[in-house]
Parts: sequence; C-alpha cells; structure tokens
Amino acid sequence: MTVTESAPEAGASTGARAAHEGILRRQSARESAARTYARALPIVPVRARGLTIEGADGRRYLDCLSGAGALALGHNHPVVLEAIRGVLDSGAPLQALDLATPVKDAFVTELFRTLPPGLAGHARVQFCGPAGADAVEAAFTLVRAVTGRDPIVAFAGAYHGMTAGARAASGHAPDVRVARLPYPQDYRCPFGVGGTEGAELAARWTESVLDDPKSGVPLPAGVIVEPVQGEGGVLPAPDAWMRRMRRITADRSVPLIADEIQTGVGRTGAFWAVDHSGVTPDVMVLSKAIGGSLPLAVVVYHEDLDVWGPGAHAGTFRGNQLAMAAGTATLAHVRENRLAERAAELGSRMLSRLSELERTYPCVGEVRGRGLMIGLEFVDPDGAQGPCGARPAAPALAAAVQRECLHRGLIVELGGRGGSVVRLLPPLTISDEQAAAVLDRLAEAVGAAARSQPGPRGPGRAEPPE
Ligand code: PLP
Repeated sequence: MTVTESAPEAGASTGARAAHEGILRRQSARESAARTYARALPIVPVRARGLTIEGADGRRYLDCLSGAGALALGHNHPVVLEAIRGVLDSGAPLQALDLATPVKDAFVTELFRTLPPGLAGHARVQFCGPAGADAVEAAFTLVRAVTGRDPIVAFAGAYHGMTAGARAASGHAPDVRVARLPYPQDYRCPFGVGGTEGAELAARWTESVLDDPKSGVPLPAGVIVEPVQGEGGVLPAPDAWMRRMRRITADRSVPLIADEIQTGVGRTGAFWAVDHSGVTPDVMVLSKAIGGSLPLAVVVYHEDLDVWGPGAHAGTFRGNQLAMAAGTATLAHVRENRLAERAAELGSRMLSRLSELERTYPCVGEVRGRGLMIGLEFVDPDGAQGPCGARPAAPALAAAVQRECLHRGLIVELGGRGGSVVRLLPPLTISDEQAAAVLDRLAEAVGAAARSQPGPRGPGRAEPPE
C-alpha cells in the first residue's frame, strides 16, 4: 500500500454516502449513550488492511488508534489471517473452556519464550474471560489468595479497566480496598520538581506510606503498575522508579503486578515494557495485542504464587481458539521480525519530529512517549504556568485536533486527564513513508485547530508567535 492510496477520497458515490449516513443515524438512535469512540469518530469501517481503514463512504483513513492498541500488526495481517484460517479449516473446536488443545499449547509455548528472563522458566498462566479487565480482576484474586491481605495499591492516573475492582484501581470509583499513590511524571509532577528528583520523591512517598502504621494504607495484597500509563496520557515511568518499586515491594513481600495490557508485545520498544528496566514482576496482566486482534486475556505469574484452588477464577470464554492462534502468530511475528526494536527506533524519530510542534505551537504543552506509544498534551497557552512549566490542560483543543485529523484521513485517540492528550498507537508494521504521512497530517491538523481557537486575543491565540 502506498501513502497516496491511503489519502482520503472525496469521490464516494451518492449511494455509498447515503448508506454510511444511514448506518450512523441508526447507531445514534439505537446504541447506548455510553458509547465512546463512535462519537468522536463517525466512520463506518468496511475494510481494513495494515494501517488503513476504508469507510462505507469510500474514504480511507490512516488508523493510529489500532483498536485501542490491540493491533500490533495492524488490521488483517496475512500471518494473522492465515493462523485463523488454519484453525477454521482444521475442524478444531472454536470454544474449549480451559481444556488443553494443540492451539493453546502452541500459544503458551510462544508466550513463555517472550517473558522476562526471571519469569520465563518459572511461569504459570491463567486464562481469563476475554477482556483486559478480567485479567486484572484475576490478578487481584490471586495476590489476595497468596498474601491473605485485601488492599491493592495503584497509582494516580492509572487505567486498568471497567469491572468493579479494575475501576477502583483506576480511580474512577473510590474504594476503601484500593489506595492510590503518586505516579512519577515530569510535566505535571505532583511534587513540582519533575525529573529524577520527582521520581525519587514519588518512590519515597510510596515507601513511607507502606511503612507508616498510621498512614491509613495497610500493607497491600499487591501493587499494580502500568510501566507506561496509556489512558492516563502516555506517561512513561522512569526505569529507575520501576526498579525502586520492585525493591520496595520485594522487601515487604508484596507481589508486584505489571499491567502490560496496552504496553506489551513490542509497543514501547521492548517486547514487554518492564524489559526496559530489567524488572521481573511477580504477576503480569496481558490482553489486547496478545490475541492478534481477537479477544484474549491472561494472567502470567511466578509459580511460587500458584496457591489458589480450582475455580478461584473462572469464566466461560477462556478458550477462544481463534484468538490463541492469531495471538501465537502475532507474538512470533513480532519476535522474529524484531518489531520491538523497530518500534523503539521509529518511535524516537517520530518523537523528535513531533518535538518541532512543541517548539512551534504554544498550545502543545509536551510531546512524550516510548516506542510507538506517543502523546501530545494540549494546553491553554494563556493559562498560568505550574512549577514544572505545565499550563492548564486544554481538552477542547485536543478534541479539535482529533476532528481536524479525521478530516485529513487520520484516526487518533484522546487520553490523559480530561482528554487533553492526543495519542498515537500505530501498528508496529508502519513503514517510514506511512509514518511521515501520519506526521504531516497531524502537523496540519494541529495548525488548523490552533488557528481556529477562540480566546482573549481572538482566533489564532494558540498559533506560533510571529
Ligand atoms: N489495563 C490497561 C493498561 C488498559 O489500557 C486497558 C484498556 O485500555 C485495560 C487494562 C482494560 O482492558 P479491557 O478494555 O480489555 O478490559
């Protein structure tokens, strides 16, 4: 596919456009008010390949949402399709609960060979219900069974899913069983210093809360951390802080749970994001890309923790053979083609080009990321600066950038506090030429959104100074 082929097409037939509009109209009349992506992205995908989605109206889009990070190899990658067809043609059962099958055996073998070295030879895996949140809940059940303790420690800004326990750990629903501690970040550092010092203060705070019998936070059953916060606004945790978390938890016999649901399978420039720091977690929760675009979720943990009994965590749809085959093909393709290294290298080139936007537009507060997990935080350039230089978040501007991107045939996601971060999660297979097209469209969209912003000095206040 060339970049020219993926450019938006204006010339869809009237019939196609009417079909597209009809589907969207029926969706808004019939589907829930809780729908999300469908509101910001009024497209009707009918075909997709790699980075490209074709809509029912004939328009083509470069998809940097990638099914919320579930598509490591983009849409309909040939190795994924071949693996799915292989299962379909073999007559294997498609649903197998947690029974042993050759397809599952191959998946576990491939998964285990990718694990951090400290876990690889000693791992156990529990297949969960199909969503990432199922794996998070299973991990909480596991560490509670192991420690006999109840509370979970999570971090401010975290996102772990939408089931009750996962929501509580994400800070959506305050819950006495979950305590939240500061996550290190430079731009909006909770301690107002950022950098190594900010991360050190965050670690010390965690340590003192865990050790102080009067902190109000009892010794937890587990600590759950995203090595890069995704929905929280693309915030990579410093490697040294990750190692501190490992030491702090190990010293107190608290299992460390790494949520690699979004960061896993090469996304951040290492196969697992914990590999950057060399940390071996006790538990890893995995989903999204491990199913090769189909629903699959697992908890992987050290064999010493395997103390729970039969049925401690169950679920009907734990045996999705198509997802396991697609996942095996994806994991193997990423490993054999060194796509994690490719993500690291291309990601850093994309970040340095995007930094030009930060220098040019006062409304681009910070550009950050790791590998092909990239975010641009939009701010109000007229707002007061915080201690680390951060200005007030500008979610409306980020939403305007997302709309301008869509108008130019580019699909991006929003995240961060209040939705002020434009996020890019392109497939790891994206070519240099496609990456350049993504960045061109994004740069144009930022310029257009900045020009159209109303403000005290009228439209254009977010534009670069003369
Ligand atoms: N954990 C992380 C880090 C995620 O990004 C997500 C989803 O975006 C989840 C957990 C929840 O996964 P799911 O939506 O499949 O339940």
